[in-house]
Amino acid sequence: MVDFDNNIAILQKELSSPKRIVLVGHTNPDGDAVGSMLSLSLWLKSAGHTTNCIVPNRYPYFLEWIDGISEVQVYKFASVLCDTIVAEADIVVCVDFNQFDRLEGLGEAIEKNDSALRVLIDHHLDAPDDTYDILFSDTQSCATAMIVHKILTTIAPSVIDRTIAENLYVGIMTDTGNFSYSNVTADVFRVAAELVECGVDVQSVNTAVYNTFTEDRVRLLGYVISERMEVIHNGEAAYMSLNEREMRRFNFQVGDSEGFVNYPLTIEGVKMSAMFSQTRKFIRVSLRSRGNLDVSEFAAKYFGGGGHKNASGGKSFLPMKETIEHYEAAVDEFLG
Ligand code: 5GP
Ligand code: MN
Repeated sequence: MVDFDNNIAILQKELSSPKRIVLVGHTNPDGDAVGSMLSLSLWLKSAGHTTNCIVPNRYPYFLEWIDGISEVQVYKFASVLCDTIVAEADIVVCVDFNQFDRLEGLGEAIEKNDSALRVLIDHHLDAPDDTYDILFSDTQSCATAMIVHKILTTIAPSVIDRTIAENLYVGIMTDTGNFSYSNVTADVFRVAAELVECGVDVQSVNTAVYNTFTEDRVRLLGYVISERMEVIHNGEAAYMSLNEREMRRFNFQVGDSEGFVNYPLTIEGVKMSAMFSQTRKFIRVSLRSRGNLDVSEFAAKYFGGGGHKNASGGKSFLPMKETIEHYEAAVDEFLG
């Protein structure tokens, strides 16, 4: 990470008196966004600052067990309150994303407060908006929580108690597919080991995140794989889709389809996978790949999105049938 020491010094200077700090996570908040925000919030509060955590829409229910998650405000449900909090903030910390267009309406509120110091802590490949005063951006990092861990161990190592460690562990565990993706390095295991030494119970965190689904969710997964998965391009690509009628049939809750996109990649030969989920305004596109195939490039080129080399996303404003046709043509062009 360029200028880490310099940025730490600037941040420490800014935090030398009590500040009102807003921590902001991305749309469809995941374990890394939530875990990173809450660990930062716990540290900042212990250092005498006032903090608020805001995400644009609801976090998935399999994160509801996390200590302190009730302090995360959902902009969609409390926009007036959140607008006031953002307007009064001295510092805005953007966590696990780097472009305001990933925030929907919340992005406009942040842009309005142009006197606040803007800090970025993120690991995405997309070029960061040209708006941050302090940048902690490391695209090599498997999770934003790894960068937060580095900041905390540099500034306040003694603050990492079991709760903060658990939050960081959730971020790292979920963004590495439970320590299995190509972004896992020896350093990731070293940090995980430190967090376990701080009291993280590996099995109970694993169970809380991965084994607390509803029966409907498990049946929905079976349905989507059996009825809504197509393998194309000579077995090298796949996609799955989910429309609103199907969601209602399985009593869909936010988070139910997280991770579905990974299943086609378990088929030998499949290099990239897509999941199309209908929402009221657009179709959410999730993309995953294996090895050197860069789906962040694919997401940017064909679905106005971005993300990481092996995990990206975007949007489609076409109906489902046309979205799928667009994807099939894009795969033919991209994979050749
Ligand atoms: P997911 O498939 O879990 O929604 O997203 C996977 C990755 O792609 C995440 O790192 C997320 O930040 C990124 N991503 C998802 N949707 C979008 C989008 O609309 N725009 C951009 N730039 N990135 C996205
Ligand atoms: Mn992340």
